[in-house]
Amino acid sequence: RYAHVEKAPPIEVFELNKACIADPAPKKANLCIGVYRTEEGQPWVLPCVKEAELSMAQNDALNHEYLPVLGLEPFSNAAVSLLLGDVETSPPLAEGRAFGVQTLSGTGALRVVAEFLARILKYTTFYVSLPTWENHRLVFFNAGFKTCMEYRYWDEQKRGLDFDGMIEDLKAAPPNSVIILHACAHNPTGCDPTKEQWKIIADIVQEKQLFPLFDSAYQGFATGDAENDAWAVRYFANERNIELICCQSFAKNFGLYNERVGNATFVVSDPKVMVEMKSQLTLIVRGMYSNPPNHGARIVCTILNDSALRENWKECIKSMSKRIIDMRLGLRERLERLKTPGDWSHITTQIGMFSYTGLNRDQVDYLISKHHVYLLKSGRINMCGLNPSNLDFVAGAFDDAVRN
Ligand code: PMP
Repeated sequence: RYAHVEKAPPIEVFELNKACIADPAPKKANLCIGVYRTEEGQPWVLPCVKEAELSMAQNDALNHEYLPVLGLEPFSNAAVSLLLGDVETSPPLAEGRAFGVQTLSGTGALRVVAEFLARILKYTTFYVSLPTWENHRLVFFNAGFKTCMEYRYWDEQKRGLDFDGMIEDLKAAPPNSVIILHACAHNPTGCDPTKEQWKIIADIVQEKQLFPLFDSAYQGFATGDAENDAWAVRYFANERNIELICCQSFAKNFGLYNERVGNATFVVSDPKVMVEMKSQLTLIVRGMYSNPPNHGARIVCTILNDSALRENWKECIKSMSKRIIDMRLGLRERLERLKTPGDWSHITTQIGMFSYTGLNRDQVDYLISKHHVYLLKSGRINMCGLNPSNLDFVAGAFDDAVRN
């Protein structure tokens, strides 16, 4: 019965993480997996999260009954507001034409949304940036999409955004193509379009009748300010009145990786369609996992609706993003001090958790085998894997890899 099952290819990031943990070398660095680490290299439970959990544990009004199929409504409302702003600034919110669906983190949001787009709206083609987060393709094909196209994004020479290439490819996309756009802190390159460039992207989306699907996995991580980081989505939805969907993850910005807290925000032109849309989304979720888990969503909802906890969360976001920026400065400074061949300015111009170092495949293999410094074969590193005690070690290893 099972004998014909072929072995599926491994998932690079998890394989590397496993290899790094199993590596007995006394000095090693794990720069592969996309999770936050403190200066001591440890996971971090945000103080506001701990406080919300303590208050939840003591609240006798809470229980473990099922949530509705589309999730905890106060959570989804808070998630939509975090993304779009308030009724004063956001016409979709003021006019009641935006709604949220709680999902199993960002991946679950993408999966539900992709199925809705493929099966209900009959879209067949999606576009991803080249490169993109490696899971986009798998999620969209599994949900029923037929064709994946790429738009140019990373300019190898410039070590920055290939905006002309991106625009050319988007202009050539057939109408109703779904365009996956990273809302901020692009994974894996750490390069985002400027505000002026986003305006041009919005022009093309409108002219060519493309469907913008924002993936927002790092709101707050790019600039340390969640409002700033929502700029592109708000511009499309609030200023340009473009219908869109945005998949939000609360894994990184609340440090709630294993709680699977996510939301899909839908912005529509005519609120009349919302009842039918929600009914279809209800069947998609019902047939996939029936209803989402409560704990993480309740934590995020508690924090966002309590002014003191929300302030603490903002401080946490600032300190996490500042730590990342410090590591960027530290790495670049050391490489320049070592006179490592090449230009390393992109390390500090890129933003968010990741840096696309520009190190090639051979250099990556060398770093892993010779120095026990683990990074993706694309050259992507997680800045949070760096800390004051391993910066010299990692910079030295990079220097050696580039020279050899
Ligand atoms: N999109 C992007 C671009 C990501 O980097 C991630 C996290 N690695 C996700 C979505 C989803 O993550 P999660 O399912 O853990 O929320």
